[in-house]
Amino acid sequence: MDSREIEADLTEVLVTEQQIRDKLAELARRIEADYEGLDILLVGVLKGAVMVMADLARELRPHVNMDWMAVSSYGAGTQSSGVVRILKDLDTDLTGRHVLIVEDIIDSGLTLSWLRGNLESRGAESVEICALLRKPDAAKVEVDVKYLGFDIPNQFVVGYGLDFAEKYRNLRDVAILAPHVYS
Ligand code: 5GP
Ligand code: MG
Ligand code: MG
Repeated sequence: MDSREIEADLTEVLVTEQQIRDKLAELARRIEADYEGLDILLVGVLKGAVMVMADLARELRPHVNMDWMAVSSYGAGTQSSGVVRILKDLDTDLTGRHVLIVEDIIDSGLTLSWLRGNLESRGAESVEICALLRKPDAAKVEVDVKYLGFDIPNQFVVGYGLDFAEKYRNLRDVAILAPHVYS
């Protein structure tokens, strides 16, 4: 796809590359202060969180560990069912660890609320969440997000790791996908 074709698929840029960079720097300063003297394990949720993880981890001054999970919601279509299947599990033993889940977006909240419970049950000392985006109008369960980037409208977005049918992940901004692409 050339860049003109991609532009035609997007209706509006919601969050720019620069806004993301500034926000991650701000969140990183808070995380450094909150975890002073503690070892952090960043847990990225594949694949959408790859960009957030890469940029947040490099913003953080102290050494951090990184590990990854891939999860998938049961059920067809674009709606999360809340029943989550682990496709790729962590390599790390969580006993006594300070876990910070790194996510791209919170929609219904079902995936993250399940994931937090799952990681807590493995004996982590603490489990907190950092998410770049949240759609407050789509929430089905409240998720306590300690480090949040941006609240956005209830529309389907792509870019900065977020895909539609595995496309658009490498866009630098977060943009609304035009309805003609998926309808
Ligand atoms: P939840 O369980 O919160 O409903 O869904 C979370 C997951 O659904 C996200 O991690 C993401 O993979 C996907 N998702 C939710 N909203 C969007 C969106 O607007 N765009 C994209 N590309 N994925 C989304
Ligand atoms: Mg995700
Ligand atoms: Mg996806």
